[in-house]
Amino acid sequence: MGYSYSFTQISQYLRCPRSYRYRYLDGWREKETRAAMAFGRCFENALGAYFRDEDCGVALFNEWQAYRDAPFEFKKGETWDRFLHQGVHLLESFARDGRVRIRDPRKDLQIKFQQVLTEGSEFVAYLDAIGEIDGERCLIDWKTTSSRYTDSPEELLSLDTQLICYSWISGIQEVALVVFVRKHAPEIQYMRASISEEQRQEFGHLVESTISRIEAAQFSSHSGIRFPQNGCVSCSHLGLCLNNDQLIAAKLVRNPGASNLDWLDDLVD
Ligand code: SF4
Repeated sequence: MGYSYSFTQISQYLRCPRSYRYRYLDGWREKETRAAMAFGRCFENALGAYFRDEDCGVALFNEWQAYRDAPFEFKKGETWDRFLHQGVHLLESFARDGRVRIRDPRKDLQIKFQQVLTEGSEFVAYLDAIGEIDGERCLIDWKTTSSRYTDSPEELLSLDTQLICYSWISGIQEVALVVFVRKHAPEIQYMRASISEEQRQEFGHLVESTISRIEAAQFSSHSGIRFPQNGCVSCSHLGLCLNNDQLIAAKLVRNPGASNLDWLDDLVD
């Protein structure tokens, strides 16, 4: 039987094949120390509650409460309470805007798509939602972030690889990103774009060629250490490349062996 691949895997390989090997073959995973990541998951679950006409503020509190005493690294100015406060504020603004409609929240949220690839492997993706923004049907990805996404020049979003991937696997041309910005005055960005048939086909080829390189065990490093875009600095596997035990212990945990369930990572992406 072939393996299951996800967008997270393909993009990690494209960023640095060595990092892919550490994560997916050797089992080195990043420890969950970032409050913002856990909060993003809680917030998306609260959005689900909103669309099911449940009390989304309560849902957010209950989800986030589980992390009350988690040993997170909070950035300067961030606290558990502040996250909650910003989240509630964003949910209220989202409800007030009323721009997004999900017809059937039981079917149209967290939708699984699968595509069988040549050589018997499969590609699995979970789309956050399929719905309407300002009356236009599109696939939707939610993001929570502490700073605004760049939204110019126009159509910049049509180059977003994750949205191209989702368009490819679902066949839906219209895509959107709804960005929940946790800042002093919380803001929501509703960004839309169209993905062309050519982009979808090109992504399909990229998936196939990337997987054939993975399966041919090509894991050379793409270190990219030049200023200002130094991918190694933000890479969780930096300690392994530098043989720095302190950094390894601080950032990583190891679950040896490759897992065929690694696409589950995409549920939290
Ligand atoms: S530290 Fe740099 S070279 Fe090493 S795995 Fe990460 S991105 Fe690749």
